[in-house]
Amino acid sequence: IERIGKLLSQLITSSNSINFLIRFKKNSTGAHSHVRGLGLDSNLEPRQNSEGLVGQIRARKAAGVICQMIKDGRIAGRAVLMAGPPGTGKTAIAMGMAQTLGKDIPFNSLAASEIFSLEMSKTEALTQAFRRSITVRIKEETEIIEGEVVEIQIDRSVTGGTKTGKLTLKTTDMETVYDLGNKMIDALNQEKVMAGDVIAIDKTSGKISKLGRSFARARDYDAMGADTRFVQCPEGELQRRREVVHTVTLHEIDVINSRSQGFLALFSGDTGEIKPEIREQINTKISEWREEGKAEIIPGVLFIDEVHMLDIECFSFLNRALEDERAPVVIMASNRGITRIRGTKYKSPHGIPIDLLDRLLIIGTEPYNESEIQQILTIRCEEEDVDLNNDARDALTSIALKTSLRYAIQLITTANLVAKKRKATQVDVNDIRRVYELFLDEQRSVQYLHKHQEQYMF
Ligand code: ATP
Repeated sequence: IERIGKLLSQLITSSNSINFLIRFKKNSTGAHSHVRGLGLDSNLEPRQNSEGLVGQIRARKAAGVICQMIKDGRIAGRAVLMAGPPGTGKTAIAMGMAQTLGKDIPFNSLAASEIFSLEMSKTEALTQAFRRSITVRIKEETEIIEGEVVEIQIDRSVTGGTKTGKLTLKTTDMETVYDLGNKMIDALNQEKVMAGDVIAIDKTSGKISKLGRSFARARDYDAMGADTRFVQCPEGELQRRREVVHTVTLHEIDVINSRSQGFLALFSGDTGEIKPEIREQINTKISEWREEGKAEIIPGVLFIDEVHMLDIECFSFLNRALEDERAPVVIMASNRGITRIRGTKYKSPHGIPIDLLDRLLIIGTEPYNESEIQQILTIRCEEEDVDLNNDARDALTSIALKTSLRYAIQLITTANLVAKKRKATQVDVNDIRRVYELFLDEQRSVQYLHKHQEQYMF
């Protein structure tokens, strides 16, 4: 627990880098990179085609209501199931929810099969996923010393790597002398602080900021970083207190307190199993901080795709974990009908046990009509910067109707490559035909296998 404070500043740097990586991932053209939100108006009514999402009006409206409840903090510990045939936008809508919730509310996604491939027990993997979806806002007060540098005296007589010295700071009416240690001297050198400069020193992090040569007013500068605000300006101008807010997930706190290499494990993802005692201690500490008004818990969203891949042990874990007051909102998705519950011989809707099913809010997604498919394909072409002529677009739409939306989306990039090869800037119907012949969709692949079955190994 003691290490939380010390490591928080390092952690902030690492969280920033992680956020950057996530943003970077979001910016590249992925399957859902065209989705920018749920496309709702101010009354939470879905627009037919907005923010990258088309149709699926009922499901988007339901998703919007859930987002609103999450924002209002009224739905923690509940679970939602998105159920519908393959390619009907379950994942796309979940991504729209992530965008709608914004970066302050954590949104994590997980394919159910992933938990079987990690080098840890299934329940540990699920616990980590749960705790990754809950953030804690920890408030910390730091003291800022601010003033004009009168003199910096470094003691040159000390050897052996330890530096000492004195810093004289002047405010409007008084001078104060501070003892300097190694870290401060390095910080002063790095900022090239000289007599006459007006500086601010953060006493917790030791960070020094130059405020220029005239006295800056406390509220006028943001030199010490975002997420800060002045809570108090006591007598004189010498010291100011400031509230710094660190936002971390419960999982990040678990990791920095359980591994010797601490936060570095967050980068490698090699966090291993975390002992239940550590989690208990952390939960107790956070509850204390919460009572003292130092911490706030923000439950986010855990999206579990292909939820029918979970087995009966995972489902009973989920049932129990959802009871916890710190549980996030769990959104599951499945494209299965009545199917066997993994790990049992029983069948149930979506392969989910009835007792869990009973506590879910279910959002259904439906197959698209021709016009909706065409609109989605047009959005994808824009996203991938591909220009299709009208005939090619019609051909691609009928391919999507005959095969699947996902298959047709995949043909966009390949058809563009074929067009580029013949030095055309626009994809025409022959390019579509060409790639349709080159790449088999699921139905033709099955037909091909039936025809050539005897040539394959058994
Ligand atoms: P599965 O059950 O196979 O996992 P799914 O229902 O999750 O399928 P998605 O992966 O969301 O389907 O959809 C397939 C592709 O179509 C994705 O690229 C997705 O972004 C896009 N898509 C689906 N529905 C919409 C929609 N309503 N608006 C825009 N794009 C959509």
